[in-house]
Amino acid sequence: MTGNEVNEKLAPLTKDQIQENLIKPSHQIDMDDIVREGFPTLREVADEVAFPLSKEDLILGEKMMEFLRNSQDPVIADKMGLRGGVGLAGNQLGLLKKVIAVLIPNEPEIDEAGNEILPTEPFKMQEVLYNAKIVSHSVQDAALETGEGCLSVDEEIPGFVVRHARVTVEYYNKEGEKKKIRLKNFESMCVQHEIDHTNGIMFYDHIDLKEPWAIKDGMLVIQ
Ligand SMILES: [Zn+2]
Repeated sequence: MTGNEVNEKLAPLTKDQIQENLIKPSHQIDMDDIVREGFPTLREVADEVAFPLSKEDLILGEKMMEFLRNSQDPVIADKMGLRGGVGLAGNQLGLLKKVIAVLIPNEPEIDEAGNEILPTEPFKMQEVLYNAKIVSHSVQDAALETGEGCLSVDEEIPGFVVRHARVTVEYYNKEGEKKKIRLKNFESMCVQHEIDHTNGIMFYDHIDLKEPWAIKDGMLVIQ
């Protein structure tokens, strides 16, 4: 199914109807629920969610996390036709709510014999962030060595996606507790990608189209 067909399918629904469909107990979010380029919410600023969290917004966060978990499970992802993802934002589901799910796996550890073993902690970061915002950042920039991809963008767009190397992010968790976290490396890039979504910004907005692989002064390249 192409992005356009998804857009036509979702266009007549109100945002309340979209969310209602997403959070049905029997529903698992799949690629058909993810809007692609051209869908208006990808270029709009989402609204903050209210606390205490509504049951609907709580379930939405859980469903988004379930999608990421499914997308990283080779068997389930294959069966459901999911692209692997480490982050998902409400705007990508056709909603204008500041809800972000992040699920970043830890790399396998290597034992003395050189075999890969499952890490003790499966995830580096596993969190649903409500109303997340960057409150401070490093002067230094950084980019992922291989560029970035996005579940809402079907083609590859090569180039360094230049972001802040380190960020301090404030958000609310599902219990309504205010959290403040400092992020660097891959986690920093991933969370900035998702916060951007909630502000209508796409990853390729940060690529220098003239010199997509230029390493600017002092820019950290993250492997
Ligand atoms: Zn994205």
